[in-house]
Amino acid sequence: MGLKDKKICAVCGEKAGIFTRIKLNDGLLCGDCVKKCSEHIEDFDEITAAEIKEHLEYRDRNKNSDMLSEFNTTLTLGDYEVLKVDENHNLWLLTTPKRFSEENPDIFYLTQVTDCEVIEKKELFTPIHPVEDEDSTVDTSNEKIKKTAELKRKLHNVRKKPPEYGYWFYIRIGVHHPCFSQIVMRVNKYIIQEANQSEYLSCKRQSQKILDTFTALCSSAKEKYGPK
Ligand SMILES: [Zn+2]
Repeated sequence: MGLKDKKICAVCGEKAGIFTRIKLNDGLLCGDCVKKCSEHIEDFDEITAAEIKEHLEYRDRNKNSDMLSEFNTTLTLGDYEVLKVDENHNLWLLTTPKRFSEENPDIFYLTQVTDCEVIEKKELFTPIHPVEDEDSTVDTSNEKIKKTAELKRKLHNVRKKPPEYGYWFYIRIGVHHPCFSQIVMRVNKYIIQEANQSEYLSCKRQSQKILDTFTALCSSAKEKYGPK
């Protein structure tokens, strides 16, 4: 007793379990509350408990909205994270594999989209290389010497390898919304190695195509309904 082991969720007041809680800007958020939040929230540590409370109110409204109940996909874009569009109702949402069955996906009007762009991110990619057996002719009668020589050779091979890079493609969708300023869609499931030019170009083309199609849908929705 006396130990401060009662870590309380700043939003619902329940105990925030050590394995499921996350840090907010000004407190802790329990696992149950995290699950209720949108999967599109990224930096919880920059968000306050008061903002999360507002966000959860929005999530309730979203869940019970006509937008969600009448949503009927007419077009899907992408094959990892998927943009679903309902052209008849001026709606769209993004589904991701982060949550297997999201019952409350954030739903938006096409006319809420402010701007879109393809983002290409280059990232250091370090695959595990098998070390080539280039000088196995060294005298290795002594087991210890053999091991040391092998280790040195491995280290040398690791050092002489130039860094390798890979690519991620994203589509950033700017939205006019009280809880979000953008929704980001990841296009490729796995990182694309720099050396794999055909995969790189194909993903780049795919991203541009998603962007062009989606932008065209948003523009025609704005002509039809006016900006939201
Ligand atoms: Zn909570």
